[in-house]
Amino acid sequence: MLDCIIVGSGVAGISAALTLQSNQKSFLLFGSWSISEKVSKAEKIHNYPGLSDVSGVEFCEALKTQLKEAKIDVKEEKVAGVYALKDKFTVMTQEGNTYESRTVILACGVESVKQIEGEAEFVGRGVSYCATCDGFLYKGKTIAVFCTTKRLEHEIGYLADIAEKVYLIPMYKDVQIQRDNVTIIRKMPTKIDGGLRVNTLRFAAPPAEDIPAELPINGMFMLRECVSPAILVGGLETADGHVVVGRDMSTNLKGCFAAGDCTGRPYQYAKAVGEGNVAAHAVSEYLK
Ligand SMILES: Cc1cc2nc3c(=O)[nH]c(=O)nc-3n(C[C@H](O)[C@H](O)[C@H](O)COP(=O)(O)OP(=O)(O)OC[C@H]3O[C@@H](n4cnc5c(N)ncnc54)[C@H](O)[C@@H]3O)c2cc1C
Repeated sequence: MLDCIIVGSGVAGISAALTLQSNQKSFLLFGSWSISEKVSKAEKIHNYPGLSDVSGVEFCEALKTQLKEAKIDVKEEKVAGVYALKDKFTVMTQEGNTYESRTVILACGVESVKQIEGEAEFVGRGVSYCATCDGFLYKGKTIAVFCTTKRLEHEIGYLADIAEKVYLIPMYKDVQIQRDNVTIIRKMPTKIDGGLRVNTLRFAAPPAEDIPAELPINGMFMLRECVSPAILVGGLETADGHVVVGRDMSTNLKGCFAAGDCTGRPYQYAKAVGEGNVAAHAVSEYLK
C-alpha cells in the first residue's frame, strides 16, 4: 500500500511530493501536467523568495522541469472521493480507478467561483460533481452543466452523449463544444431548486428569449477545477469552506492532512509551499 496520496498538483501538492520523496516515502500525486490554472494565470510574481519578476507560465514550466528531474509523475486523474477507513484511505477517481494509501494530503486549492444557492443542499439528489460517475443516471433526460474551465470540456461531451438536452453554463470564453442538444447560457443562475430531487434551475430573469427564468431540469452537474474538500472527503471538518487544520496540517480525520489555499487565507504561493512541506513531514512522523 502507498504511504501517501496527494490530491492536487499546485505548489502545495508539489512541495509535499518533493518532501515525501526526500523522506523516501511512496506516494502518488494527482492533478495535471499543466500544474495549476491558478499558477499559470499570474501575470507577474513578485513575492516569492528567489524569483523576481517571473510570470505564472514561467513558474509552471520551472515546476514541471523540477518534477521531471526528480522523476515524480503527475497522475492525470481527477479525484472524485476520498474515503477514510480504519487505518487506510481509499481514493476513487472520475476515471473509475481506485487507489489505497495510509495517509492523504489534500492540496486541492479553492474554487474562485462561489457555490450556487441550493448546490450543497442537493448534492446526491440531482447535483453531481462527476460526469463519468453519475452521467448514466440522466439517459434521455434534461440536465444543466455549470463548467468553470475549458479543461473539463470533454466531460460536457460525455454528458451530451447521454442526456437528451444539455443547458451549458460556461465560466470561460472560447467554448468549443458544438452539439445539437447543447444550448449555451451566458447568465449566472441564482438558485438550484427542487423537492426530494432537483427539478428547477432559477435565473434572476429569463437568460434568453426562448429560455425561462425557471428552467425545468432533472439534474445539475458542477464541473469545477477544484471541488470543495468537504464534498471530496466525507466527515472532514471545514469552516467557511476551508479545511480546519492544526499546526502540523493535520485534519480531524486521522492520517488526513491538508495544505495550501484549501486551508484558508492568505492565498499565496509561499504559504502553500510551506504548508505542503509541513504536511509531508507530518505524514512521515505519522507513518512512524
Ligand atoms: C490570477 C492570480 C494571480 C496570483 N498571483 C499570485 C502572486 O503573485 N503571488 C502569490 O503568492 N500568489 C498568487 N496567487 C495565488 C496562488 O496562485 C495560490 O495561492 C496558489 O496557487 C495556491 O496553491 P495550491 O497548491 O494550494 O492550489 P492550486 O494552485 O489552486 O492547485 C490546486 C491543484 O489541485 C488540482 N485539483 C483540485 N481538485 C482536484 C481533484 N479532485 N483531483 C485532482 N486534482 C485536483 C487543481 O486542478 C490544481 O491543479 C495568484 C492567484 C491568481 C488566481
